[in-house]
Amino acid sequence: MSETCFTFEEYCDDLGPIKIVHLHEPSCGLRGIVVIDNVACGPSIGGVRMAPDVSTREVFRLARAMTLKNAAAGLPHGGGKAGIVADPRTPDKARLIRAFARAIRDLVDYIPGPDMGTDEICMGWMHDEIKRALGLPRVLGGIPLDEIGATGFGLAECAEVAAPVCNLVIKGATVAIEGFGNVGKHVARFLEEKGAKLVAASDRKGTIYDPAGISVAALMEAKVASGSVVGYSKGKKLDQAEIFGLPCDILIPAARPDCIHKDNVETIQAKLILQGANIPATPEAETRLYQRGILNIPDLIANAGGVTCASVEYHGGNEAQAFQEISQKVRRNTQEVLSRSRKEGIEPRKAAVDLARERVRHAMTFRACG
Ligand code: NAD
Repeated sequence: MSETCFTFEEYCDDLGPIKIVHLHEPSCGLRGIVVIDNVACGPSIGGVRMAPDVSTREVFRLARAMTLKNAAAGLPHGGGKAGIVADPRTPDKARLIRAFARAIRDLVDYIPGPDMGTDEICMGWMHDEIKRALGLPRVLGGIPLDEIGATGFGLAECAEVAAPVCNLVIKGATVAIEGFGNVGKHVARFLEEKGAKLVAASDRKGTIYDPAGISVAALMEAKVASGSVVGYSKGKKLDQAEIFGLPCDILIPAARPDCIHKDNVETIQAKLILQGANIPATPEAETRLYQRGILNIPDLIANAGGVTCASVEYHGGNEAQAFQEISQKVRRNTQEVLSRSRKEGIEPRKAAVDLARERVRHAMTFRACG
């Protein structure tokens, strides 16, 4: 493992982590890390990342992000995360995943889910070993959150609550989406259903822009047929990065981290940004957006549809219940963060983090110590 040295000073604060566990099973070459950050709100949920270079520090940061996201979303769950130090293409994957599952059998406060390098099949193997995993295949009672568009649905609900705050009406509002994948294509679909007009979308290969409006169904077909949104027959084809400066009312980054930064933040014309991706803007760019009066709803509020869906699955709910829960939670939390941000004159991200920390601290008052 790249890091074996642990100091309490480096990791610990008022929230956690409560456990950092290093796993080693020499018989099958398993090397893993589990960080359970905080369980005051409930058992921790967070994905298992499989990568050759995954580190304790990375797993800790992701576990903390899950503590805040789950609390901000109002879920009865704490935050945790795990890493398996291996190439996800290894032919030994099933053996490693199964060994990992057995090694965490007694860490009952951690519920694994999929993350980079793991998927629903891996979760099926874990479920077989320890009957404790999220993001299961449908046949095992899972709700396929990417297929149903859980995160995109939540973003569209968030848009409806945030729009009036920046004098926008969703019906007729123009939308640009960076990244037309599981998150991007579904938010496009749900916003179109609410009457918004998609004018631009991008992926790894470029941007398609048509101020007259792009049909979401036709764009999905073009992407399947040609492998990219730029295969769409109408509109203008532009470079990938050009999407950020296009005229639109709502901009949704739904691909990479840090894609809104000091070099493009001044070019943004949107009135409302909904963060579909995790940390799509640098902290400096977020502050600049706030100064420019652009309403920017942070990831831990706007993209909580996926984790909410996973929680509903864990508690035995069905798809219809997942949609209901996402709508209710995302709307309420968006409202709360916006009103805090306005009342206290702080950036929406700070309002969201403050809200999450308060909820966790409140839950911690119910825990006995010793
Ligand atoms: P995905 O792989 O399905 O889609 C990503 C899309 O982004 C693809 O269309 C890809 O071509 C495009 N892309 C990649 N690099 C790009 C670039 N440089 N410029 C423009 N487009 C680019 O992934 P996803 O599941 O849609 O996740 C997208 C983001 O949302 C990630 O940051 C992920 O962590 C975050 N997120 C996803 C979920 C979820 O439910 N899937 C939930 C919360 C957050």
